[in-house]
Amino acid sequence: MDYLPLFFDLRAAPCLVVGGGDIAARKAQLLCKAQARVTLVSPALSATAQKLVDADTVVWIEAVFLSEHLKGQRLVIAATDKREVNQQVYDAAKLVNIPINVADCPELCDFILPSILDRSPILVAVSSGGKSPILARQLRARLETLIPPSYGRLATLVGNYRDKVKAVLPTVDLRRRFWDGVLQGSVAEQIHAGRDGLAQATLDKALANTTAETLQHGEVYLVGAGPGAPELLTFKALRLMQQADVVFYDRLVSPAILDLVRKEADQVYVGKQRDWHSVRQEGINQLLVEHAQAGMRVLRLKGGDPFIFGRGGEEIETLAAKGIPFQVVPGITAASGCASYAGIPLTHRDHAQSCTFVTGQLKEGELDLNWSMLVQPRQTIVVYMGLAGLSVLSAQLQAHGLTGNTPAALIQQGTTEQQKVWVSTIAELPAIAEQEQPVAPTLVVIGSVVALHDSLAWFQAG
Ligand code: SAH
Repeated sequence: MDYLPLFFDLRAAPCLVVGGGDIAARKAQLLCKAQARVTLVSPALSATAQKLVDADTVVWIEAVFLSEHLKGQRLVIAATDKREVNQQVYDAAKLVNIPINVADCPELCDFILPSILDRSPILVAVSSGGKSPILARQLRARLETLIPPSYGRLATLVGNYRDKVKAVLPTVDLRRRFWDGVLQGSVAEQIHAGRDGLAQATLDKALANTTAETLQHGEVYLVGAGPGAPELLTFKALRLMQQADVVFYDRLVSPAILDLVRKEADQVYVGKQRDWHSVRQEGINQLLVEHAQAGMRVLRLKGGDPFIFGRGGEEIETLAAKGIPFQVVPGITAASGCASYAGIPLTHRDHAQSCTFVTGQLKEGELDLNWSMLVQPRQTIVVYMGLAGLSVLSAQLQAHGLTGNTPAALIQQGTTEQQKVWVSTIAELPAIAEQEQPVAPTLVVIGSVVALHDSLAWFQAG
């Protein structure tokens, strides 16, 4: 970080702007917005600057800059069109340690002015460290669309209730829970819809109905984290990830996704290796129950979709049996994610009218699958956990009548920067895997749609 972003209280503070042109006027106006007492030093004024003086917004000293003008100033901005004057102001300010900014000259700046999104009292400042003010402005414009003006009113309302909420809820943790609920619920919606009175009534009611006990109810969020790329998370997944107290995650959840979980949440790895057994699963179920019963918001984060080969159903059965509240958030399952990022449509009018997801996990060296169904034409088969049993899969499909030259693909770490795709045939696939040694997680896709990869692949992994 080359600069430390700060929000500087300049209310009633004397500030100096050197220059009388339009840029100087803009800087003066900005300082005035922050309620500073602004003095403008310049032998002449542009029309815009003159207007500020006429309106008594700023005080004008009609003179060339002298170091004595710096006396008593909290901050100074030089914005003249003369390099040597700007330099002179800079040197003088440095001598007396007054923070200085020289417009359009980052090397003569103690501080730089960011691009500002003003939703007072919410302020968002974006800076490119002087490298590209245009880029900072574009980013600010994007934020503008994300943060509607009503956020200012929302923040004001919250500010007015801080002390009242503090009186009812004694700890930071309880207050966080209260505000998390309120700010994501109808109060915020009502403010955004311009119904401020209703929002205030809703907030009063929420506060009247809240006690430390009512906030102590734990809950479990069973959330699908998608196939790996953080951008493929749902909004809801992200929101719940941001409000969890503890997260239990498995092997498939990428570090980039874990980075998006609330920083203060405890992170517990409960990943299972290939030969997992039910004792471990029961252990996980138990952990979820215990933490929710302790009043925590428990995030159970799973790769892909929790209800597709994720044992999500079993985890919530235990919760349901114990009467613990839970929510399930779907994720993009590996089949959709990998197929999209490999340019292999899972269905296609000319190739496949159905698509079947199966697990390729071996049980005592065998695969217990409905082979006669899988060898039917005009379908796509997606095999999860199919790497270890690939030879058995290939042999069985052929033994049951699928031709050896049916196109088939291996997709390793789909949707991530490490994605690799190998396209071959069902007969050749085991040899390819042997030779290329793909790493987990890898998905197998079988069917004539795989041939479309050659023309439809679009994603370039890092
Ligand atoms: N619930 C998950 C699947 C869990 S089973 C989902 O809906 O995606 C684990 C298997 O999923 C792995 O063995 C692999 O076959 C597949 N898989 C998950 N993520 C993958 C990825 N990014 N790339 C390739 N395969 C993946």
